[in-house]
Amino acid sequence: MSRKLDPVSQAIRIQTTQSSQQEHSTPLYITSSFTFNEAEAMRAAFADESDDNIYSRFSNPNVDEFVAKMCALEGADAGFATSTGMSAIFSSMFALLKQGDHLICCSSVFGSTFTMVSKYLPRFGITCTLVPAGDPIAWEAAVQPNSKMIYLETPTNPQLEVLDLEWTGQFAKKHGLILNVDNCFATPLLQKPIDYGADLVVHSATKWIDGQGRVLGGVIVGRADLVKEIYLFCRNTGPSMSPFNAWVLSKSLETLDVRMQRHCENALKIAEILQSHPNVAWVKYPFLPTHPQYEIAKKQMKLGGGVFCMEIKGGLEAGRKFLDSLEMLSVTANLGDTRSIASHPASTTHSRLTDAERLSVGITPGLIRISAGLEKAQDIIADITQALEKSAL
Ligand SMILES: *Cc1c(COP(=O)(O)O)cnc(C)c1O
Repeated sequence: MSRKLDPVSQAIRIQTTQSSQQEHSTPLYITSSFTFNEAEAMRAAFADESDDNIYSRFSNPNVDEFVAKMCALEGADAGFATSTGMSAIFSSMFALLKQGDHLICCSSVFGSTFTMVSKYLPRFGITCTLVPAGDPIAWEAAVQPNSKMIYLETPTNPQLEVLDLEWTGQFAKKHGLILNVDNCFATPLLQKPIDYGADLVVHSATKWIDGQGRVLGGVIVGRADLVKEIYLFCRNTGPSMSPFNAWVLSKSLETLDVRMQRHCENALKIAEILQSHPNVAWVKYPFLPTHPQYEIAKKQMKLGGGVFCMEIKGGLEAGRKFLDSLEMLSVTANLGDTRSIASHPASTTHSRLTDAERLSVGITPGLIRISAGLEKAQDIIADITQALEKSAL
């Protein structure tokens, strides 16, 4: 075709493999290894002189197709898919950092990422400075002669802080640092960190990319030289994605654009309505003008995302009652699903922390996070509203 397709169309049309049956939907390649008719072909594959698949820990047609689609969407040169979002994040750091290196990491990152950089990286002699989002002076002060990488996510989970990608891209360039961005909350449909100078983009494909709560997955895309290092690390350490999960996720990408549009439309509509509810102290959503980084969100995101949070009046007890009063929304430890999900970090995921510890990571007692699903907005609003009435103290 002479005309270059839009990345969304590319991701829908990419089919990297087809059997002699000429099926229209990519078949599932459940195989641990691939055969060779000649020793010479096998030698060439091992010597990196051909693209032949060898072993599914290294590459697999389903995984390659999923990665090709992700690269098209993110505008990346190369990529590698992993078993989970955490193994993508882990591999992107451990493949590129070594003893004596320093990482600059935004302090509001996903819980397991926080644990990894603050507890495990230092065990291998890799130091880390945690920097608050949106504090340029602290970011400048964090740079050391041995700094190698910046890691951040935007919008953050669950506080939905938005970091300025343009500023961070320039900052990384000025100091010669690898910029590694977790784009899980926005997806490439809403925001493309590579356009702002990100060298690597990582994802938990478990969330919006699958979008249907079925499989775990992760992916790293970005600069070919860095991805090559990560590929070699993963090929030898084993966090590869299973062909089945890749087959599911590759098909999911074909509907990501339409799904994200509806998720974002629902989230905005519900967030706007809940702002004036008497039992709600505040609502936070990147595309509400009351969001502290609204201007930045508008600049770098096409839509505000599928997640909003709110503080319900009555604190911890009201939050617990709210979860118990929901009739339709799911209470589950996930987000980015066709089904709307509510969570109350203070009484669940963060219940073991003290009030002061929770506050230090931005978890207020009545904080509720909502992942807007694809149900009709009026049904989601009705369920949240009735649960708010019941949780009023
Ligand atoms: C869920 C999540 C992860 C971890 O992904 P898994 O697939 O659960 O390993 C990383 N970053 C963000 C922002 C997430 O929401």
